[in-house]
Amino acid sequence: MRERPPIADPLPRPVVDTHCHLDVVDRQLGDGPGPDDALALARDAGITRVVQVGCDVASSAWAADFAGPRDDVVAAVALHPNDVPRIVEREGHAGLEAAFDAIEALAVRPRVRAVGETGLDYYRTRDEDARALQHDSFRRHIDIAKRHDRTLVIHDRDAHADILRILDEEGAPDRVVFHCFSGDAVMARHCADRGWLCSFAGVVTYKSAEGLREALVALPREALLVETDAPYLTPVPHRGAVNASYLIPHTVRAMADVRAQPLDQLCDDLWSNSERAFGPL
Ligand SMILES: [Zn+2]
Ligand SMILES: [Zn+2]
Repeated sequence: MRERPPIADPLPRPVVDTHCHLDVVDRQLGDGPGPDDALALARDAGITRVVQVGCDVASSAWAADFAGPRDDVVAAVALHPNDVPRIVEREGHAGLEAAFDAIEALAVRPRVRAVGETGLDYYRTRDEDARALQHDSFRRHIDIAKRHDRTLVIHDRDAHADILRILDEEGAPDRVVFHCFSGDAVMARHCADRGWLCSFAGVVTYKSAEGLREALVALPREALLVETDAPYLTPVPHRGAVNASYLIPHTVRAMADVRAQPLDQLCDDLWSNSERAFGPL
């Protein structure tokens, strides 16, 4: 098992990890901290709130239940685009309908603030029928978010054009977050013009992510969020280790450097944008 990275230098002001999967223990990555440990470590590093994100019915129910009694966690619920074709394979279209109903029932709970992560993943899904299922699922999630006034959290992997097209066709909900934003500066400005938020993960610290850093510079202060997507996407200098919210200061400091923005001001922006995106946390 790899060693757990040390606590990063705490941030001068608290920030919110707007996207994590506390319930995911990925054996390939090795054991990370459990949910309660992860939150305690996060507090020590100045991360006092997190958004816990579900990817299927079971993990969405877990997220809603976990957030329910806590004041440091809110939840997002959805069927991940990569899970949708699997549900149909396993349980048929009736199973998928039942799964949408279950997600909608969870979405109305008070500590569930968002519908997501939903969207399109063309990186892992190449089959045209499976992509068609993702399109339909994305539209269904947009509809749930709008009817219940929930924030839409988008997973967009190699699918920018279709994501933007479907948002236009359906009409976007009032609050939209691109989780692990991966577009370029042009797309960043497109999102900011519409009042959508772009959430940056540890990827922004990776050497190869020059285009992403250009997008980060192109965005106005009010469009920025930060996330871990833990246990994935661990920031430099701990890339390869298990990610957790307490490592987010590495990402926030990199963002401040890239934008040449004072760190405390950026932290305050991230906090107020998180509250705007996910309600009072
Ligand atoms: Zn994602
Ligand atoms: Zn995620």
